[in-house]
Amino acid sequence: MPLAQKPVERAAHRRKDEAWLAEARRNPDVLVFLMRAGEPLMEGEVSGAPGFGQSFRGASRPLVWLGPQAFDLGARGEVFLGEDSSGTPIFALDMPAGWEMEASPIAGLGAFTEMRGAAAMLSPLEANLASTARSLFEWHRAHGFCSRCGQESHVSEAGWKRDCPACRAEHFPRTDPVAIMLAHRGDKCLMARQASWPQGFISALAGFVEPGETVEQAAVRELEEEAGIKADPANAEYLFCQPWPFPSSLMVGLLIPADSEEISVEQDELEAAWWITREEARQMLAGAHPRFYCPPPLAVAHHILKAWAERED
Ligand SMILES: [Zn+2]
Repeated sequence: MPLAQKPVERAAHRRKDEAWLAEARRNPDVLVFLMRAGEPLMEGEVSGAPGFGQSFRGASRPLVWLGPQAFDLGARGEVFLGEDSSGTPIFALDMPAGWEMEASPIAGLGAFTEMRGAAAMLSPLEANLASTARSLFEWHRAHGFCSRCGQESHVSEAGWKRDCPACRAEHFPRTDPVAIMLAHRGDKCLMARQASWPQGFISALAGFVEPGETVEQAAVRELEEEAGIKADPANAEYLFCQPWPFPSSLMVGLLIPADSEEISVEQDELEAAWWITREEARQMLAGAHPRFYCPPPLAVAHHILKAWAERED
């Protein structure tokens, strides 16, 4: 899973240590990267917005890494992400939406890059760091006020918490679990598309886990709601999960044997759904299907499809 690497020691015990954090910001070896409006600053030029299902195989661009001078650039937020293997502190800074790099001391050092494309071009380690920063900054942007009493809340613990000074409530970043499931029956699996997706792009079904549900129950409920397919949560097979910072999901990938075959699409959710043969799945993964293409390796959907397609019945 490209975004599921554990690249650094999060060093959570440092988050409350203001003296240590102040020292870390002045450390000449400190590693800092910038985000702006959810986009990481990467070396090189932006080569066009990436397509939704587009693969970036072969493309490779690193983050722009800055030192302690980055803290003077006028960021509106920061998060301490942890320490690398040699104990070097790592921070991400959130630049104001209108901040112009070309008018700053780091003009010409790179380009802010849309996160889906960025994640596909960064190394897994850097993609995970940028994803983590993006989720945290998006959370801060949407949670400036206490959800209990409505007063303005303040960032604490190096960006990992918000405190309400009025009612003393503590607020922590959200992670929203999403079940993404490939239903299969014999030699076929169920894939679908939304009307807003690019022509020919299809994927596995997915949906948020609701309060009171297990991931397996959510998967089965969504299959029935969206495609009219029945399945038993007890037969669901967990494969793997990865964080998905759009803005703060945890995508949990499952395979589920379907107990019915007749598709009945919920038109509010899906445009169409199909049973795809294993041979077709292999073609899609190879980019050789005449009609359909599937999510790129960045996405969990790609890997659950691959896991199923490589099995022999
Ligand atoms: Zn409050």
